[in-house]
Amino acid sequence: MEKTQIDFLWKNHFLKSLALSKLVYPLSILKTPPEEFIILVQDKFDRFLWEGKRSKMTLANVVQPLEKGGLNYPCIKSFILSQKTAWIKRLLDEENNAKWKLFCLNKIKRKYGFPNCSIFFNCNYKYNHASSIFGSSFLDDLCKSWSQINYKEIPRMTADEIGKQIIWLNSSICSKNIPIVSRSLAAKGLIYVKDIFNEYGVLKSCVELSVEFRESNFLEILRTIKSVPKPWLNEMRGINIQVGIIDNFVSIPKSKSIYKSLIQRKYDYNFNLLNEYWIRKVNVAGIDWKLIFKLISKISIINKIKDFSFRFINRIIYSDLKLYFCKHRQSTLFSFCSKDIGDFIHNYWNCPVVQTFIATTMGWYNGAMHTDLKLDIGIYFLGSYSTNRRLDIFTEFFYWVMKWFIHCCRHGSKIPTLHHFKVVLKIIHEDEKAFALKKDKLDQHNRKWLIPVRQLGILD
Ligand SMILES: [Zn+2]
Repeated sequence: MEKTQIDFLWKNHFLKSLALSKLVYPLSILKTPPEEFIILVQDKFDRFLWEGKRSKMTLANVVQPLEKGGLNYPCIKSFILSQKTAWIKRLLDEENNAKWKLFCLNKIKRKYGFPNCSIFFNCNYKYNHASSIFGSSFLDDLCKSWSQINYKEIPRMTADEIGKQIIWLNSSICSKNIPIVSRSLAAKGLIYVKDIFNEYGVLKSCVELSVEFRESNFLEILRTIKSVPKPWLNEMRGINIQVGIIDNFVSIPKSKSIYKSLIQRKYDYNFNLLNEYWIRKVNVAGIDWKLIFKLISKISIINKIKDFSFRFINRIIYSDLKLYFCKHRQSTLFSFCSKDIGDFIHNYWNCPVVQTFIATTMGWYNGAMHTDLKLDIGIYFLGSYSTNRRLDIFTEFFYWVMKWFIHCCRHGSKIPTLHHFKVVLKIIHEDEKAFALKKDKLDQHNRKWLIPVRQLGILD
């Protein structure tokens, strides 16, 4: 990792390579620890990362990769879950003939009758149903973990998708709120929903099923048919069912990619919305998020400014309008001007009061630094969002301090002024210098500050 990388990326690296790797083995062989324990470990990690102070970023946020606005920070729960899948991989590995494995496979076969065990790991049961599957044992622990990875709730399925659903241990096919399973029918080959239909999409009768699967227990057959949801039966009716072998078994992915998809699931939806939001607001297509978040992670050695920046981009910062909806404000109007609705963009850019502050500050900056920077909404909000508009680290940082300053003014109910801003910039400089000295990073500090300090007269 290069030297200019900021402190907490290094800490993150440390957590992953040392602390987490020490936990890999015990976590994969022991029973999944209780939720409280997981929270405790996660909390310890958090405190280490944020130096004892609680972060205002949510966990779902910080565990995302950099390009999604996160810090690529380890999520203990997803990590433990993904580690468990290595056992399922071993169970299904045909080459592996270890005793424990044969024991487990036998247990599954004896209890559920499945002709092969990959069927068992393709059953679609959710976590609350998983505990009824084995009771307390190694397999029980595995089922519970696996359900959190594998379970898919599909709101509306096509006839084809319904037909391919495994009828047993399926959280959508319940009797008295418990997924049904019939050991003898499964052992004789009734596995999929399609198996209870004939090739013209007509539901087979009890007698037909009884003959086909050599099953004399009519009640068992009736219970099976009755448990399949009505909308599914309707969807399947009259559809030509393809007879043949279903090969929808995906091989169990590596624990690393399972971890990745668990993390994604936590946040994907939000990020797409966020991406659309910013594209709409700043009017650029194809925002390079990785670049933006990498820049943010480097702007300051001080966590509070980085933390603010991450939250700002993720819009975890409340606008005056949002504060009104949360009943923290009496009015929908922005406190600076008391004229317009205080939405996010108005709070940080559109308001004439903010525009005056930005214009004055940029006038001062351009004059003192002998530059001719023009701020548009895109550069102001997202920094050098495209590679051909790269700015130096101090300028990137400066724009973020402006926004942070406006943020502080909002909270202190003060109108932002250049005079006050200069005072704040001076304080930040002193803080960064003190921190850099402590961390032996004075070179890095000087590279960023030496020229601006002189030009902007920050020491005066
Ligand atoms: Zn306004």
